[in-house]
Amino acid sequence: MTDAASREFCPRCGDPVPERSEPLPGQPRDRDAVLCNACYFADFDLVDAPDRIEVQVCSGCGAVHRGNRWVDVGAEDYTDIAVDEVSSALGVHLEAEGVEWGIEAEQVDQNTIRMHCHFSGVVRGTYVEERVTVPVLIARGTCDRCGRIAGGYYAAEIQVRADDRTPTTEERTRAVEIAEAYIAEREATGDRNAFISDVTGTDDGVDLKISTNQMGGGIARRITRELGGSVEEYPTLVTEDGDGNEVYRVTFAVRLPRYPPGTVVDPGDGDGPVLVRSARRRLKGVRLATGASYEAAYDEGIAPDARRLGTRDDAAETTVVTVEDDHAVQVLDPETYEAKTIPRPDYFDPSAETVPVLKSRAGLHILPENGPGDDDR
Ligand SMILES: [Zn+2]
Ligand SMILES: [Zn+2]
Repeated sequence: MTDAASREFCPRCGDPVPERSEPLPGQPRDRDAVLCNACYFADFDLVDAPDRIEVQVCSGCGAVHRGNRWVDVGAEDYTDIAVDEVSSALGVHLEAEGVEWGIEAEQVDQNTIRMHCHFSGVVRGTYVEERVTVPVLIARGTCDRCGRIAGGYYAAEIQVRADDRTPTTEERTRAVEIAEAYIAEREATGDRNAFISDVTGTDDGVDLKISTNQMGGGIARRITRELGGSVEEYPTLVTEDGDGNEVYRVTFAVRLPRYPPGTVVDPGDGDGPVLVRSARRRLKGVRLATGASYEAAYDEGIAPDARRLGTRDDAAETTVVTVEDDHAVQVLDPETYEAKTIPRPDYFDPSAETVPVLKSRAGLHILPENGPGDDDR
């Protein structure tokens, strides 16, 4: 069906253009649509690419400045950032179908990465390929968050202390890890207000400076949930920021328990030593003589009047000599190597050749294998 009337001619070169279907009613006719293929492809760009891309990257945290704000991109290195930026800056012709592409990065110098991009697709039934090279210039800067951290900004201070003792190295380390994990979770949701601006070890604990009151409280509660103890909060000072707004700072005083899990205490009630398993609200544990459970009276809470005998870390592995009966077992004293008859708790495994024992002022006692004291935090 090619008669002269329906035949069209390329407006640029005058060559006849093969008959094309009419556009649907109401749709504007694409002016390009009537160009012959030769003219159409003469100035066809499969890819629209900028001459170069400049990207500002925070040298502190790797955040990238986009539009008018800093964004955490989670990039491993500047090449990752360059690939991201180029991918979002490149435009592929709307008429292209079956587009495939690849990008290869070439590090030119510390601040320049040349991105070699290769695109292919099908346009007007013709396979088209295009290569473009876009230099990406990395400008190092400091993001708002790193600037605030560097300036020592904080809104909450967490003071990790312990009741009637100093926190152990493990507790100090763990408190900091808990804070870091909390902040990392918030960061992962894209919250750029989450940061720790300072961690300072002190003689009696560790101090953490946190970006917001809300997060300071969240971290303090998480520390006590895991390590036991309690937290009290009080505003420490009110200042004005640069704009004259009042800034409240809150101190969260974390008080780790006097007898943390893993401590062996004698509550002095005649039933012998207890390995502490939990120090939240009320002290709980297991009796070393019998394996029965112990729970402090309600009004004693987590700090009953008790004597500290040692910790699980003071335990020594020793040899079981013989099982005497349901209530007694003979083991070697780990210091003198004398055989001694001591109480047999119900967690004692009669087939065990060795057991962990704690020698204290209260005598020699078998401790449970790891578990009670560690698993109930
Ligand atoms: Zn033409
Ligand atoms: Zn930063």
